[in-house]
Amino acid sequence: MERTRVAVRCVDCSFEAGYDELPAARAAIDDHESATGHEVVWEIKSLAEGISQAGADAGVCGRPECVNEDSPLVNSEQAER
Ligand SMILES: [Zn+2]
Repeated sequence: MERTRVAVRCVDCSFEAGYDELPAARAAIDDHESATGHEVVWEIKSLAEGISQAGADAGVCGRPECVNEDSPLVNSEQAER
């Protein structure tokens, strides 16, 4: 799952905001530009998929040794016994 963060900032005044989805950001930009005539710039920041995946893995139980049962560490420990 990919999460998108859109940062919106006006170059002509102190207006700035952040949105989780593109349509909401575009609507806010259109509103501000049509209402004030200002120029609004925006930046899309997509969180890397690896970060989301790591967060999901860490949420399993919080202990690194039981996050992944196929881990080489777990397997080698069992093999020595
Ligand atoms: Zn403005």
